[in-house]
Amino acid sequence: MDEQVDVLIVGAGPTGLTLGLTLARYGVSFQIIDRKTTPSDNSRAIGIQPRTIEVFSRLDVAQEVLERARTIERGNLYFSGQWTAKLEFSKLVTPYPFVTLLRQNETEEILERALRKHGHVVKRGETLSSITQYPSRTIAHLTATDGMTRAVEAKYVVAADGANSSVRRMLALPFSGKSFKEAWVLADLKADWPISREEVHIFFSDRGVLEVFPLTDETIRITGNLRTDESFQESDLQELVEQRSHMPVHIHDVEWFSLFRVHNRMVDTFIHNRIILMGDAAHINSPVGGQGMNTGIADAFNLGWKLWLHLKTGAPHHVVSTYRDEREHVARNVLQTTNIATEMLQTTLPMLLPFQAIGADVFTRVNLVNQKITERISQLHLSYPNALRLPFRRVAEGKIFPETEILRTDDGFRTKISEIADGRFQVLVFDDGKRDLTSIYDYLNKNQPFIQTITLSKTSRPFFDQGNELAKSLFMKRGILVIRPDGYLLHKQHHVRLKPLQDKLAVWLPSS
Ligand SMILES: Cc1cc2nc3c(=O)[nH]c(=O)nc-3n(C[C@H](O)[C@H](O)[C@H](O)COP(=O)(O)OP(=O)(O)OC[C@H]3O[C@@H](n4cnc5c(N)ncnc54)[C@H](O)[C@@H]3O)c2cc1C
Repeated sequence: MDEQVDVLIVGAGPTGLTLGLTLARYGVSFQIIDRKTTPSDNSRAIGIQPRTIEVFSRLDVAQEVLERARTIERGNLYFSGQWTAKLEFSKLVTPYPFVTLLRQNETEEILERALRKHGHVVKRGETLSSITQYPSRTIAHLTATDGMTRAVEAKYVVAADGANSSVRRMLALPFSGKSFKEAWVLADLKADWPISREEVHIFFSDRGVLEVFPLTDETIRITGNLRTDESFQESDLQELVEQRSHMPVHIHDVEWFSLFRVHNRMVDTFIHNRIILMGDAAHINSPVGGQGMNTGIADAFNLGWKLWLHLKTGAPHHVVSTYRDEREHVARNVLQTTNIATEMLQTTLPMLLPFQAIGADVFTRVNLVNQKITERISQLHLSYPNALRLPFRRVAEGKIFPETEILRTDDGFRTKISEIADGRFQVLVFDDGKRDLTSIYDYLNKNQPFIQTITLSKTSRPFFDQGNELAKSLFMKRGILVIRPDGYLLHKQHHVRLKPLQDKLAVWLPSS
């Protein structure tokens, strides 16, 4: 055998790179390969959702992304050229209440650089040509561009090899779903156009829809559906934009022009023995709402810490299997939403437009509806199976724990709970000073390789819940919260008994 690793990642798009970075931070041994000899220079996905920035923050790349990107707090909806309604992202409960716009190749560049800082490089120009699975390992054969081959033994192969996944084909997995009949046009271009470059604009017209995203001060991304695509060319963009926006526009410098079809498909199951599918290899959806890349990144972040627990600490295989249940649930949810959104955007028949305009106006004025729509786009609402179906970002098991600030008693600065997260489970103990917590602390200390303990009290401790703010907002006088390494709430108890805490964590931790 040429080489042995714990994980072989096939594909260095945003999904594979995020998994690589997560594994690197946990010290799991892996290799990441890509058949392309150089990084992509294609702008493809430009919308990074707030939840993804929360993930990037945990991976220490959020700051660089935000420095290079443009952030957008508002979207405008126009019907037949008339401004009708707005979508407001600034009210989202997250430290990043905006949509971040950055070309996909730049996002990939940032992830790959972070990976290099951890001492890992993408092995480029290598294509996966076959995989053989055994009960406890896999053997993958890779072919380089010069025809040289090598074999890698890995405990798991992760297929992050995109929409045309070769792993999916090797396993002969059906990719069920539907393909939309209408084609879409996409272009990155410069234009003289009297609209704000600080906001997104969506124009509904009797010719179809036009979405406009300001990528930089000069360059904008436009997308629109085409009822007939056979003859559409770059030179038709000017007319399309003018007709749908009802505004005077002068288009110049088209940097990228592409026609594409929209597909909503996913595989039936994301884990096949020792092969795990993620990102576009497992599910593809319409680009409406900018969900595809974000869902792949979230897949990777979900799997990374589970592979660490299983491979490095001896936690049961069940931990890895939860990836399947949780992420299939999310992918189904995203497919459903983007399917409905695409149908709605494509249905711009002249007689329906006035009614759609009234609907958009009325609904988006209702703050709760506006918030619900933007939460859905932001991916902050996504919960795992069996989560309580509470509206909005309420604290519930199976939902993302909302970013919360506490006070550090050593320097007096406020800190976010995610900022002090170090990849382990975070256990927040609300200590009212009236109970004996010795057995709780004995248990937490014993499991210290997997658990970061944060005590919050009204008296002096490393962290201080000033004015009992956090406890009050969670309706917790005393009790315990367990936050998973990916920021989801695993457990909440309003008392300080050890047994329920122990039972909940026993499912995830190696048996002692
Ligand atoms: C025009 C367009 C616009 C889009 N806009 C958005 C948007 O605004 N927001 C959004 O969230 N998403 C958007 N998407 C979707 C987004 O681009 C994808 O969801 C994202 O690229 C998926 O990432 P991935 O890492 O899973 O796969 P990919 O980015 O496709 O990466 C897969 C990698 O695997 C490599 N590979 C393939 N086969 C092999 C093999 N056998 N061996 C080795 N390497 C292999 C490929 O070279 C590639 O680098 C858009 C897509 C398109 C096409």
